[in-house]
Amino acid sequence: MIPIPKYMMKEDTKEVQKTARKAAEKIKPFSTKIDKENMIPEEVVRILTERGLFGVTAPRIHGGQGLGIFELTIAMMEIGRICTSVARSLMTHHIAIEAIKNFGNEEQKREYLPRLAGGEFGTIATTEPSGGSDVVGATRTVALKTDSGFSIKGTKTLITNGMYCGIFIILAKLDDKLTAFIVEKEDGVNARSLEPFGDRGSGLASLRFDCKIPDTRILGEAGRGLKVALHSLNSARITQAGIAIGLAFEMLQKAIDYSKKREVFNKTVSDFQGIQWALADLHTKLEAAKLLTLNAAQEYDNGTYTPAIPAMAKLFAADVAIAVSRMAVQVYGGHGILQNSSVGRGYRDAKFFEIGGGTSEIMRLIISRELFQR
Ligand SMILES: Cc1cc2nc3c(=O)[nH]c(=O)nc-3n(C[C@H](O)[C@H](O)[C@H](O)COP(=O)(O)OP(=O)(O)OC[C@H]3O[C@@H](n4cnc5c(N)ncnc54)[C@H](O)[C@@H]3O)c2cc1C
Repeated sequence: MIPIPKYMMKEDTKEVQKTARKAAEKIKPFSTKIDKENMIPEEVVRILTERGLFGVTAPRIHGGQGLGIFELTIAMMEIGRICTSVARSLMTHHIAIEAIKNFGNEEQKREYLPRLAGGEFGTIATTEPSGGSDVVGATRTVALKTDSGFSIKGTKTLITNGMYCGIFIILAKLDDKLTAFIVEKEDGVNARSLEPFGDRGSGLASLRFDCKIPDTRILGEAGRGLKVALHSLNSARITQAGIAIGLAFEMLQKAIDYSKKREVFNKTVSDFQGIQWALADLHTKLEAAKLLTLNAAQEYDNGTYTPAIPAMAKLFAADVAIAVSRMAVQVYGGHGILQNSSVGRGYRDAKFFEIGGGTSEIMRLIISRELFQR
């Protein structure tokens, strides 16, 4: 398992880490198929659901494990180590849980949290074809008040779990103000699968909404949708950093193992100091990324975080995941670039951390705002 400082571990944390590790081992045989077919098989969903991993942060009274973002981040490290797309899917699913848990009324919590914790996929859909970074400026999806509720029309794109989802948290303009709504697949959501070059299998889709929903589906206050989205996305930046760390950990291990076996010039690759030092630097950065992320998760759970904290964790962990997987491919030499190479897949997957959940430029923007108090 990925080493976590002992002083940070409670009984619950140890338990969830063990459970996630065991689930990851069960998922491992499916990871090539998931990458090839760009789809998570039912069997994998069953493995995760049976171990309570669909409801890590949902309250116990609503069928979840009642744990925090800290525990979810540790679970994401273990699953991300084996299959980043399954971890991304689960991480995004928990954004819907966070949104409903923190902003839903009692009736919404009673209706949706047990369904989500029980294995029905959730997601958040904010990105539109007109843009993802500037959510306020780019949102074209409109909600109109009707006699019985709302009519929602619009298109969202690049949505994780879009192909699997039953429950969507979306942003739409109601009286020109961003409002969060809970939408169900049967309300009139049409999903088209997208073909990413990495991180394949997380159900990435373009979604067309032409829905009629009852008036009980506003999440949080009307006109305050951005608050719902940003708070929930902050949790996801931390858990996504966890996935990046899991991937980097695995890539580093693979590079070390391979370097000990591969012989060149009558030595093993691990005998070359140039390789040792490159891996030592990456190991140091990975340790720093892990601690930054674990600290961010604790700050989030304690309610003491500012937006720069999750942004720094995601920015740094993404950089480290890319650097480690690039080096792993390098250590493997030509064998690293072949289609069926696991380090090659890691390198493809790593790039996605710089974009999903807000790009690295937007992370820097958030950090700068705090730094310069703007
Ligand atoms: C794997 C993955 C999963 C995703 N899952 C989801 C999901 O579940 N739900 C969802 O809603 N979205 C999701 N997205 C979409 C993601 O949130 C957007 O791709 C992201 O926010 C960027 O938006 P965009 O692609 O429209 O790029 P744009 O906003 O068009 O940006 C284009 C480029 O301009 C840069 N840029 C923009 N503004 C600035 C600025 N002020 N300063 C400097 N540079 C800037 C960006 O960083 C980027 O490099 C996912 C994306 C990926 C890759």
